[in-house]
Amino acid sequence: MNTSNPLKYLGDQLESWRTAGTFQRLRVLESVSAARSRFDGYDVINLASNNYLGLTTHPKLIEAAIEAAGQYGVGSGAVRTISGTMTLHMQLEERIARFKNVEACVVFQSGFAANAGTVAAILGSEDHIISDELNHASIIDGCRLSKAKIHVFPHKDAAKAEEILRQLSTGSGHKLLISDGVFSMDGDIAPLPALVKAAEQYGAIMMVDDAHSSGVLGRTGRGTVDHFDLHEGVHIQVGTLSKAIGVLGGYVCGSRDLIEFLYQRARPFLFSTSHPPAVAAACLAAFDVLEEEPERIKQLWDNTKYFKQHLKARGFDIGVSETPITPVFVGEAKTAHQFSVALFEEGVLATGIGYPTVPEGKARVRAIVTATHSRAELDRALEVFALVGKRMGLLKAA
Ligand SMILES: *Cc1c(COP(=O)(O)O)cnc(C)c1O
Repeated sequence: MNTSNPLKYLGDQLESWRTAGTFQRLRVLESVSAARSRFDGYDVINLASNNYLGLTTHPKLIEAAIEAAGQYGVGSGAVRTISGTMTLHMQLEERIARFKNVEACVVFQSGFAANAGTVAAILGSEDHIISDELNHASIIDGCRLSKAKIHVFPHKDAAKAEEILRQLSTGSGHKLLISDGVFSMDGDIAPLPALVKAAEQYGAIMMVDDAHSSGVLGRTGRGTVDHFDLHEGVHIQVGTLSKAIGVLGGYVCGSRDLIEFLYQRARPFLFSTSHPPAVAAACLAAFDVLEEEPERIKQLWDNTKYFKQHLKARGFDIGVSETPITPVFVGEAKTAHQFSVALFEEGVLATGIGYPTVPEGKARVRAIVTATHSRAELDRALEVFALVGKRMGLLKAA
């Protein structure tokens, strides 16, 4: 009998990550996801969630989920195209389309599925994708799955994107210009007005992934397209239901034809079961909350400004963030992980992120402020950052 382990190389690789100090251990959340949470037996200030507005624990969402489970059960029983399209799914899509002021919307199981499923469905090997180098992994995977030719432009460089479009303008194939609305690692905002202009000039499809801007930017959280007032120029808007909305899922907004086409061809829609009724109902309730409680977004931005201003004042390098996503740069991946562990020991959870998620030498601890952090919690977190940062020699000399 051959007793060799054909998966041995995986263990070897894990060992080398452990040696390098970049192995990611999963922290286990033992409470709700909120401003303060319990991880691995410790109560900490949670600066590592995307729960921007505190909706994960909003009573209206919880009530809607419980009621839907009671009335409709816990599962939908099938994919959307077989028998898994429930009234709640249709209501949610109509609700989001109304919220975003577009013709139609399709909801996917996740933001990841929305991006990957959409790009792969609408393009083929004869087509071209012009993509920001820092676009989200789900966009990159969608581009690869589509088999279209991928042209990557330097981060936020709209002039370069335009140049690529110009070079392609004499050739054939559809062109898709695609960008995150807010970039998840650096927290900066895409130059949408310039990108939209370039797309319009060369007849390209314009697609924006608003995962980190849904519920954060624009009127009552309508996203970057609303933030820049660009409604005419963006053909495909992706959003997530997993971050500020507080639940799970992703959606694509656009023309009725785009959505009908995705109903016919998007593979995660066709081949993966739809949301449980409780998820759809909770998401529906979330859109009511966005419109009824705008003070949550105001509080999010007040907290963001306060936290970032004080981090900077204490000598941290927080890069170019324009949103609640706050990277604290430390250099090497190992330092980022050590910083994150030390913060945790002092009662603050913020994620260490290094290569290959971000470029080498650009490792960071990423802190995400939410609307529900109290001033006292932010002050304590700032104190801990300063204490640990000083100990580790991470502060710029004043
Ligand atoms: C989180 C994120 C996604 C994926 O959304 P999920 O709903 O968590 O799958 C897609 N794009 C960007 C830019 C993201 O930050």
